[in-house]
Amino acid sequence: MNSKEIREGFLKYFETKGHLRLKSFSLVPQDPTLLFTAAGMVPLKSYFLGEEIPPSRRITTVQKCVRTNDIENVGNTPRHHTFFEMLGNFSIGDYFKEEAIAFAMEFILDFLKLPKERLWVTIYKDDLETKEIWKKHGIPEERIIPLGEEDNFWMMGPVGPCGPCSEIYYDRGAINEKEEHELPGSSERRFLEFWSLVFTQYDRQIDGTLKPLPRKNIDTGMGLERITSIIEGVDSDFETDLFMPIIEHIEKLSGVSYKNSDRSIRAMRAIADHARAVTFLIADHVIPSNEKRGYVLRRLIRRAMLFGRSINLTEPFLYKLSETVSNLMGDIYPEVKEDLSYIQSVLKEEETKFNTTLKDGLYYLDNVIEDYKKKGEKEIPGDVVFYLYDTLGVPVEITELALKEVGFTYNKERFEELLESQREKARASFKGSEAFLERVSFGAVKNAVGSVEFVGYETLETVATLK
Ligand code: ATP
Repeated sequence: MNSKEIREGFLKYFETKGHLRLKSFSLVPQDPTLLFTAAGMVPLKSYFLGEEIPPSRRITTVQKCVRTNDIENVGNTPRHHTFFEMLGNFSIGDYFKEEAIAFAMEFILDFLKLPKERLWVTIYKDDLETKEIWKKHGIPEERIIPLGEEDNFWMMGPVGPCGPCSEIYYDRGAINEKEEHELPGSSERRFLEFWSLVFTQYDRQIDGTLKPLPRKNIDTGMGLERITSIIEGVDSDFETDLFMPIIEHIEKLSGVSYKNSDRSIRAMRAIADHARAVTFLIADHVIPSNEKRGYVLRRLIRRAMLFGRSINLTEPFLYKLSETVSNLMGDIYPEVKEDLSYIQSVLKEEETKFNTTLKDGLYYLDNVIEDYKKKGEKEIPGDVVFYLYDTLGVPVEITELALKEVGFTYNKERFEELLESQREKARASFKGSEAFLERVSFGAVKNAVGSVEFVGYETLETVATLK
């Protein structure tokens, strides 16, 4: 079974269970307080909160998601992405725990055909009801791990809908004695969390008490990349059919093989991940900028470019990879196919612009590193990082990443100090301009030039009549 079959199989399975299939929503959420759609539940929030009437009480989606909280992990772990697809089934005041667990088990055992003895689950420590349901489905007590609030209790905010969750893990098997004694949540390699079931059953009050919700909800999310890695029997998400064509394209462009070294593995994973993320973000109308979503997009492009340098990719390349992403995903997400030439032009322009900055910055940084190496030191002054940032335009996280690659650090305190003093200077000069604005008040302008007739409703040209 490949990723396409898993994706379609999931949606079909839940359709047979009375769920309405909806298309993936945009990565840019309707809710202006959120940066990106980070889970399948996000676009359905107003249904869960009772603010809108859902088209069905049972919904299933495969939602494209972007998460930035895991960005440091991307490239370093086999299972974290900034862009990923989340398979989800949702009950809006309809079925609850019993059915949600029964559906999950049936899908895992009968459709995916995973062996039951490889399954472990975690539950919220006080949620004994869920524990009993798992036992009824043949998961023995020793493979049901109780965890605390920080791991297995979901809440939208300090007050409001919340509830326990339960996560399903796949045991890849221990390869040494230490791993024999590990438990889900503690081991990166052995246990892979792939499906999370959230049981929204309470409404947390201001005083902290948990009031049962009159209509309870189910929200589940399974990472397509992770479940595909299990089904395809590979060690990392990046070796699945979702990523391999992109990795192969990177190998071709760079002339370096994926498994050449830890460095090439890390770089190619991060680049492949970011190539997907940036392609999809631009398709959803995000453009590189210095603010909010545009800034995240810009960071991803720059991060990918820096990783590119470590495998000889010194000329723009992301725009080329976006074509492979489009070929791979365009059937499911037509936006990446239809807008490909636009996506490529945005990427190429951004890459070209940043390339010069990066070249100058890294040349300077390399020289500094060489000097410090000669001195036998592994920390460079904060002043260098500040100069790179302030004068050469190299973002701090790019410098940090470049330093990390060679095992170097920098004096962060000094950097912060310089940054703060620069901010103070900016504030002081802004105050100056405020004073200037006060001086040229509207009254003063009117006195100087007389009144101005506004004709903007009829024409866009300014017709000022000086009296
Ligand atoms: P983790 O602790 O492994 O980072 P999580 O507990 O934050 O995951 P959930 O928010 O419960 O994950 O998301 C549901 C599912 O979505 C996870 O079980 C996983 O399969 C997938 N998922 C979540 N975050 C990522 C990510 N950054 N990259 C890939 N898949 C992810």
